[in-house]
Amino acid sequence: MRAAASDPVQSFGRRGTCPALSTPMLTGDGYLSRIAFEADITPRDMIALCELAQRHGNGLIDITARGSLQFRGLTPESACTLENDVLALGLPLRDGLAVETSPLAGRDDQEIADGSLLAEEIRRGTEALALHEKLAAKMSVIIDGGGRISMGDLVADIRLKAVLLDGRIFWRLLVGGAERTALNAGLVETDVAARIVLSLLVYLAGKGPLSRGRDLDLRTIKAIGTSLVDRAIKSEAQASSSPLGLTAVGKGIIAAGIAPAFGQVQACDLALLCEQAQAVGIEALRPSLNHGLLFFGSPDACGTLLETARISGFVTAAGDTRSSIAVCPGAPGCASAFLPTHELAAFASKELASLLDGSFTLHISGCGKGCAHPAASLLALSGNADGLAFSISGRACGPHDSILPFEQQRTGLSRLARLYEKEHKPGENAANLFARLGKGAIAAALRQDDL
Ligand code: SF4
Repeated sequence: MRAAASDPVQSFGRRGTCPALSTPMLTGDGYLSRIAFEADITPRDMIALCELAQRHGNGLIDITARGSLQFRGLTPESACTLENDVLALGLPLRDGLAVETSPLAGRDDQEIADGSLLAEEIRRGTEALALHEKLAAKMSVIIDGGGRISMGDLVADIRLKAVLLDGRIFWRLLVGGAERTALNAGLVETDVAARIVLSLLVYLAGKGPLSRGRDLDLRTIKAIGTSLVDRAIKSEAQASSSPLGLTAVGKGIIAAGIAPAFGQVQACDLALLCEQAQAVGIEALRPSLNHGLLFFGSPDACGTLLETARISGFVTAAGDTRSSIAVCPGAPGCASAFLPTHELAAFASKELASLLDGSFTLHISGCGKGCAHPAASLLALSGNADGLAFSISGRACGPHDSILPFEQQRTGLSRLARLYEKEHKPGENAANLFARLGKGAIAAALRQDDL
């Protein structure tokens, strides 16, 4: 993004050297730029990025559900300078089409296949065919080799998921949406997998920049991917979306999984954590899925860092109630927001601690768009002009069941906590309890009806 001095905004929206960095989006707290990595970076790299976030933006950094880093509070001018400064660091930034793999790909002793090899082949192919310029800006390909980190909840236009059949590796080809809802087109062998994905991308590029994976039907896919194999396969157990705490990932590597609460952190706090990582000898880290960071090092180093992170307020263990809440930036970060979502989420993480048992995701959304959790949730709360709308087993962007005036939102949640304490049976999780009680009882508690 090297704009003419007279019109620094002009380059926004075009695809540049690093598209996610070259196309900042306007949000409630200024422009936002995003970067993603194709390999590990060092704590020193992250400290440099934190310094840039403070120098050019408002010092807030998001780690997204897909493991990207977002700089907030930029101006058109500072976004341009940020891009130049980030590029000057020479980091392994993702460039061109988003072809995503697990951050543990190639070093996970539970993976079926190393997805990074296929991903690299697809990246090279799209570059050679100059496909990225012709495809939808948000087109994404996921190569999921299986293993400790599940990529199933991420939406992808085209997904390859490794499966083992009779001791041989195949790739399940899925198009459109999350893994659970995507169209399952059949199996492909490893040696033709990249070619089939590239053929589908060429087809979509030919249909124009609005075409997405969801537009593909089975007949078209089979005509393009002539090597598809039809075989029924069992669905496997779901892995974690990103490990928290200490994990021995294999090949002698230990990962410390650490996440900022609600996916957002002050750059100075993240820089401090990375300085501590450096001090204990950690040399590699990677932003991970589900708003996490993975630091790689010795067991002692990772253990020490984890404890430091916990004391500093980061999420460091599965079961932390903050991990059960999906929350968007809200006010003041987003101009569309009707409420400060992080404040309500912090309240909910304490007040609803007993019922945030990991059996469901509480979705708190600043408006009805529902950016943080596009899928349905057992309870979705979203701001609108009249108050806090809630949907039970619905989506923030769908029809809501009722609405709470803003001043009653906290007492509504407190009533829900009391309902749980009164009604839940030993061993019963919150999702099962709510299913047993039904929508009416939950809505009545939230609305504070006389019971
Ligand atoms: S859900 Fe609404 S308030 Fe939240 S980030 Fe998206 S547009 Fe902004």
